[in-house]
Amino acid sequence: MCRKECYDKKTAKTILNQRKREHKGEVRIYFHEECNAWHLTSQEEYEEIIQLKEEDLVYKEKWLKLKTPD
Ligand SMILES: [Zn+2]
Repeated sequence: MCRKECYDKKTAKTILNQRKREHKGEVRIYFHEECNAWHLTSQEEYEEIIQLKEEDLVYKEKWLKLKTPD
């Protein structure tokens, strides 16, 4: 579990729309599997998360290939 506020998708979207109107920092929502919930985040944080996820996928693919050789 991380320290971010957890929301269901509908609530996260509602808050996101409010924040956008108020021009607050949080401009994205994303699903966090570890929390099994949606979080609000800033653009910068969001891009970091996406990069990490892509890296994780690459590692996972490599690992799967090692595990099941042709
Ligand atoms: Zn989380």
